[in-house]
Amino acid sequence: MDVAKLREDFPVLSSGVIYLDSAATSLKPRAVVDAVRRYYEEYTENVHRGMGRMAQRATDEYEGAREALASFIGAKPHEVAFTSGTTASINIVAEGIAWEAGDEIVVTRMEHHSNLLPWIRASKIHGLRLRFVELDDEGRLDMRSLEASLGPRTRLVALTHSSNVTGVVNDVEAVAKLAHDHGALLLVDGAQSVPHMPVDVRRLGADFLAFSGHKMLGPTGIGVLYVSEAAQDSLQPPWLGGGMVEEVTGDYYRLLGFPQRLEPGTPNIAGALGLGAAARYLSGIGMEGVLEHELELVRVALDELRGIEGLSLLGPWSPRGRLGIFSFSLRGRHPDEVAALLSEMSGIEVRSGYHCAQPLHMRYGFRGTVRASTYLYNTVDEIRALADSLRRISRM
Ligand code: PMP
Repeated sequence: MDVAKLREDFPVLSSGVIYLDSAATSLKPRAVVDAVRRYYEEYTENVHRGMGRMAQRATDEYEGAREALASFIGAKPHEVAFTSGTTASINIVAEGIAWEAGDEIVVTRMEHHSNLLPWIRASKIHGLRLRFVELDDEGRLDMRSLEASLGPRTRLVALTHSSNVTGVVNDVEAVAKLAHDHGALLLVDGAQSVPHMPVDVRRLGADFLAFSGHKMLGPTGIGVLYVSEAAQDSLQPPWLGGGMVEEVTGDYYRLLGFPQRLEPGTPNIAGALGLGAAARYLSGIGMEGVLEHELELVRVALDELRGIEGLSLLGPWSPRGRLGIFSFSLRGRHPDEVAALLSEMSGIEVRSGYHCAQPLHMRYGFRGTVRASTYLYNTVDEIRALADSLRRISRM
């Protein structure tokens, strides 16, 4: 992977910014912006409706984007529905399963609020039991706790593939096996994994996989809900409207199959086209290469951060089984202050706060952290610049 060359594809980088906030949202390459612009400038039309040439082109490109996303995760096109993002995808599942009182949902202490609040609400509405899987001292999943959380009433396990705070990558394949042995469904939050590593849904064994376009070089407001063929019967669409029905007569309607039944109304066509372009861009580079580069940055970052006085890392110091997300506190400094100083002093963009994972911060006694996160356009020099600036701030 030629990082220096691919950096030229990202116009924002020409400003000289050191962008270490890709876990929040990634930068966008020209290919993505061009795909969106072409749609608006050359063939703006609705999809799945018209017979005109522009409408046909819009439909073909939209379905082509679906195929690109399906191939990106090893799925079939009809298993891929476009949503507005990870949050929407998870809510669709939480609202679309026919829950029965007493059903149990297993979640973990490392979930983003988007993979927690929908389950809390579903459990209150339908009389379900929420069971929490605990973490070990490094922020990794405690598999014994997971096994103890599973039982005959487990209906669904909802688990992130990779934590947006610690970067830990969970052994989803093992969890899938355990969940399925108990007759439960598995929902995987792929918001932080799909953009950064090869993900194959069949190998993973997920019934549902949710991810966002904007964290994988695509536009905001677009994402994916993968529903495996086998799990499609267990999900009813929570919203109804045009474009998803085969027949409507008076008080009767018959829905189309997947994925159309999950896409009522006019979809985010431009977003889907941009996301299709992003998936093709990443496939062109190769996800193995993207991951390999990230793991190199992880090794350098952990080495550099380890030597900084007063720095406490939320997450594992070992590079094994983790991605390029580093959440930490600096003794005597508020995380917001550190983030603002990094930007002012060195043009380094990071994020501060709870990163929508308050239970995880509470588990380790952190009242917020500074989070630096990497992607394919980051360099070893940028990681060293971050460490230099942190050393200066800690001495100030
Ligand atoms: N899950 C994880 C692990 C995330 O990192 C995020 C984004 N911060 C989300 C869910 C929610 O994604 P979105 O805001 O794109 O819906």
